[in-house]
Amino acid sequence: RAKASFGEAVCHFCPDMDEVARRQRRIATDLRHAVERGELHLLYQPQHALEGGTLLGYEALVRWIHPEYGLISPVDFIPMAEQSGDIFAIGEWVLNEAARAAAQWDDDLKIAVNLSPVQLQQEGLVQMITGILIDSGLPARRLELEITEGAIIADRTHALHVLRQIKALGISIALDDFGTGYSSLDTLGTFPIDKIKIDKSFLLRSAGNVQAATILRAVLALGRSLDIPVLAEGVETRAHLDLLRDEGCAEGQGYLFGRPAPLDDNGRQMAQA
Ligand code: C2E
Ligand code: MG
Ligand code: MG
Ligand code: MG
Repeated sequence: RAKASFGEAVCHFCPDMDEVARRQRRIATDLRHAVERGELHLLYQPQHALEGGTLLGYEALVRWIHPEYGLISPVDFIPMAEQSGDIFAIGEWVLNEAARAAAQWDDDLKIAVNLSPVQLQQEGLVQMITGILIDSGLPARRLELEITEGAIIADRTHALHVLRQIKALGISIALDDFGTGYSSLDTLGTFPIDKIKIDKSFLLRSAGNVQAATILRAVLALGRSLDIPVLAEGVETRAHLDLLRDEGCAEGQGYLFGRPAPLDDNGRQMAQA
């Protein structure tokens, strides 16, 4: 409003904001139907052992192809879905789709699926997961659920209860984006965490940023002391890989190994366009 004297600028500014707002509303409405309309797709990104380079499995990453706007990133629509409650249908679709796909792969490949903090509060979550394992035929030991620290802070007692039930099924749990959330180191001691995924920001800044590199090393040392394997996200370069190997990091995921991509029925990445 203060800029009203720049008449022209206001005229160009307001319609744009209207357009943005209209698009946001349209996206929020359409998100409700994205699952039933078959607009969601999964891409799979490889996770590798750093010593020896063995392929260990894939993380499933969801994409939304909107009929008008095209590709929408999960960074944009997952928070919306968490707000609206659409995350329940989306989360179930993702688990189901990922489990069915992974059941066809080599028996030693794991599938990692992201679980929203909102889903951890969902009544019947454990029964839903159990049903999906039975229907897909995927052995529980091949499923890993990725949770963030945000999933734990809301209600620690409830989170612990649910995670113990999930563990009891034979599913493993990874702590995603480690180092960026409201970290309490106590979480690692109290919760049944099988793997720490250190957030990609640390590795990506490690070259020019002493602090980031120091935190990376500290997390690796922490994992070693607690006997929890660490996976580094954001392995983009040979230098990243060398650094991680020198520091004794167990696993890696990033563009150097492969981008999120569709898989063929045997669980191999298809040639990328
Ligand atoms: P995340 O679980 O931490 O997934 C890793 C993200 O890092 C992915 O982004 C991946 O494409 C990106 N990435 C992987 N390697 C590299 C690399 O070498 N360099 C860089 N710069 N980035 C890399 P994406 O696919 O856009 O997903 C973003 C986030 O959206 C995920 O972060 C996760 O929090 C959320 N998300 C994705 N799929 C799902 C889902 O099915 N359910 C839920 N609840 N959240 C999901
Ligand atoms: Mg993840
Ligand atoms: Mg992550
Ligand atoms: Mg993330």
